[in-house]
Amino acid sequence: MNILAVQIFSQTRPQKRLSLPVRGKTVMDAQTNSAKYGEIDYYPYSTVKIPFTGKFSDAYPKYWLKNLLKLNLPCPCCGKTMIPLDKIKELPAAGLFSASCLTAINALEQYEDIMKPVEYSIMQIIKPLAQKYPGIDLQELIVLLSFEYESNLVATQLTILNRLKSMIPELEKEHQQELYDITQTAKEFIVKKRMVKFKRKIFIKDVEEFADKIKDKELSEKIKYEAEQMPTSEDSVSAFIMKYKDRTPEEIGERLLMFSAATLEHITPDSQNGEVTIWECQRCNNNRSDRPIVEQITQNPNMLDNLRNHIGILVDRAIFLRNHGGNEQANKLFGYAKAVRDEYLTNIKKAKEDSIKVEQEALIKLQFDEIPIPPDYIEE
Ligand SMILES: [Zn+2]
Repeated sequence: MNILAVQIFSQTRPQKRLSLPVRGKTVMDAQTNSAKYGEIDYYPYSTVKIPFTGKFSDAYPKYWLKNLLKLNLPCPCCGKTMIPLDKIKELPAAGLFSASCLTAINALEQYEDIMKPVEYSIMQIIKPLAQKYPGIDLQELIVLLSFEYESNLVATQLTILNRLKSMIPELEKEHQQELYDITQTAKEFIVKKRMVKFKRKIFIKDVEEFADKIKDKELSEKIKYEAEQMPTSEDSVSAFIMKYKDRTPEEIGERLLMFSAATLEHITPDSQNGEVTIWECQRCNNNRSDRPIVEQITQNPNMLDNLRNHIGILVDRAIFLRNHGGNEQANKLFGYAKAVRDEYLTNIKKAKEDSIKVEQEALIKLQFDEIPIPPDYIEE
């Protein structure tokens, strides 16, 4: 029987059993809980989320910034080359992901070296398997793998639940039952006593809400930390396979590339009215969220070198343009490189005033003294 057909069949089964009561809970509780897990089909990397809505500096509008992607810029944070979103969209549009897995893998392979660690590992796993089953598609390939990887994921998830349970005796009596209930509920979803998939995000939220009620802050942090160890498709091959076995071949193909996509990042967060933007890979952009620049630099030891390389490419291009008679374009590009550099420096200086520790090395590197501004470049 066609694997895909089985998959679709099992997905369309009615989920009527959701409202069955569970031991120790009222029917109402069970319903709320199940619905909670069921209603959010969390798919944050859908391309519809990518379009950039923040403010832009009038001097460097989006269409102008888009041209910079022709320069194969490295991500200023992780240093990996980024893929323009248009390039990613071309592949499913050409039907390459929904074709046989060999065709899909062939299309993906050109980007393999810039993939993130989990995505790269998935490629290494699916390539030999595709040779064995060339007639099936990308999703069917992931379904095949799921039989092998599910037990691994479940074992990891249950181990984490057991570590959480082992902390119950440390809690005050009034809180013990609640942590027990949270872990039991999660376990029921993980071992599939319920029809709906276990959702990590909802589990973490439940644990965090619970942990915030605990007076012992150290224990509260310990509980939150343990819950955070639940594998995600971003850091675990097993979690990736179990999540994407239910996705279409197009979604799987796009997801393998999506974290390497070039996205626009406000250097000063949007929430603080930042306007100067820089291309950054989706993964680093997600990881930073709207946290301060200094935090991002501290957590990514090579970031200042990567940032300098990024700006260096812009400056080299500006010199090239100037040498070929494109003075106006050259000055604009220099202006942008300077604006980017200054925006980072301003943020770092501000953080210093707030007495956030910034390594001396970081400040020296961000001076960018070596940027060769040509003598005839006149600042406005
Ligand atoms: Zn990056």
